[in-house]
Amino acid sequence: MDKKAIKILLKTIKTAQDESLSDWFYWDHYMQYITRENFEYAKKHGVMYEQENINHDEICRRIEAAVTKIEKQDVVNAFLYSLSTRQLEYRSFLSSYCIAKSLAEHSFTPSPAPNEGICAVCELHTYEFEEPIEFNTINYFKYKDGSCFDSLIQILFDLEQFPKLPVVKPCENDDKILKELKTIIETSEPGDRVSQLKK
Ligand SMILES: [Zn+2]
Repeated sequence: MDKKAIKILLKTIKTAQDESLSDWFYWDHYMQYITRENFEYAKKHGVMYEQENINHDEICRRIEAAVTKIEKQDVVNAFLYSLSTRQLEYRSFLSSYCIAKSLAEHSFTPSPAPNEGICAVCELHTYEFEEPIEFNTINYFKYKDGSCFDSLIQILFDLEQFPKLPVVKPCENDDKILKELKTIIETSEPGDRVSQLKK
């Protein structure tokens, strides 16, 4: 992906965070910190996006369409590749793929009162898709932290991103790191916490 476009995304969101911890993730807030020219540049390179109106059922349909176009081995390769290269944007595709594969096709199904605004099947809240949806903060976390996602909106974005990134193949070093990770997990104590595992 284009390095300058990624830099524009990271800098815009970081500046918004520095300016307001409570509002930075709102479109109207972070868009104050980017020029139209830079936004168009990042958009052209598939790193930043306009907002979109997508309802619950459309989100499910698009996830289904996106996941059928992806080969499992390719997302496995992407995850492995992220281990040695630290190209963190490749890390979350595997988990998004697994969640999408196990997602039951459904229409919005209100939960029992007083939670009618939450889908009983996928837990998406109506407030998440009533307003136009923005994807730039999701992409920010992909590049910055390699975050894995659990909301269907994030998963949709992730899976629609996958075909836009160059295809990657893991190297021997990735296999070695994976084996080491497995050994650490298998030899950890039952009471060990995630933070200990991470170290
Ligand atoms: Zn649902």
